[in-house]
Amino acid sequence: MKLAQIRHILDTEGIRLTKSLGQNFLHDQNQLARIAQAADLGDTDSVLEIGPGLGCLTSHLLGGHRTVMAIETDNRLVEFLTRHYASNPQLQIVHADALRYLREHSGSWQDWKCVSNLPYSVASPILVELATHPSPPARIVTTVQTEVAERIRSPHGSGDYGILSLLIQAHFEPGESFKIPPPCFFPPPNVDSTCITLHRRKNPILGPGEFPTFSKIVKRGFSQRRKMMIKLLKADWNIEWISALLDELGLDPKVRAEQVSLDQFVRMTQGLMQAKQNHDERRTI
Ligand code: SAM
Repeated sequence: MKLAQIRHILDTEGIRLTKSLGQNFLHDQNQLARIAQAADLGDTDSVLEIGPGLGCLTSHLLGGHRTVMAIETDNRLVEFLTRHYASNPQLQIVHADALRYLREHSGSWQDWKCVSNLPYSVASPILVELATHPSPPARIVTTVQTEVAERIRSPHGSGDYGILSLLIQAHFEPGESFKIPPPCFFPPPNVDSTCITLHRRKNPILGPGEFPTFSKIVKRGFSQRRKMMIKLLKADWNIEWISALLDELGLDPKVRAEQVSLDQFVRMTQGLMQAKQNHDERRTI
């Protein structure tokens, strides 16, 4: 959908865009094609799109025998899409708040790909919800604020590394990314955008049942970035267990969370869970 068409539709439908819903529509055909290409869509793929807007990206996702489920919160856009795509049974439009829908969805996303230009205000919680779902999609291709893309793909030691990086990288490997300049959108946003591809890990790095503890350690560890991990973690765990684990992992006892790698967080999770289990077993003997 080109810029002139977007303007025409908004005008004839009498739709005034809502800034708080991140309604910046992507009209640059090259960028739209690049996003669809990054998704590497097969003929029979199931695609989840969050925030289809006027369908700028949706039309690039449909094709072959693919099915697209598009979740949109704005009823004016849902109405337009329903009319516009009435003759296309391969598109299912869901009128819902995507975050709520994902939280309440008990099914599996395992065989799905998510391709979305996410609304900036809810991009991070939506991505965490999807990435940490018990059966997450095979691939996520998403346009987000560049700053958020940096936080997602940052390795340890970087100022951008934190809770978002770890919760997502625990399940997905960040892949290729490219910037999309503001004039490619209508209206142009005030921030830079980046499209990033996330590949679900072929071999999970966390065992079954380990994610809640991993998440708790990560959140506690980054609750005060400048503070030593040991001082923060001792709120939940025995200080001797933490100290022994830091030593075993070759980490300085004064280490801060941003210096601890994903792999070391995973090993801390497993070590603390094991120490707790040993402790509980001794108590019941
Ligand atoms: N996909 C379109 C495109 O590329 O031009 C629109 C993308 S626009 C950045 C974000 C879209 O997400 C808007 O249509 C907005 O109404 C919708 N949206 C905002 N918050 C939402 C939410 N919580 N759940 C579902 N859709 C939402």
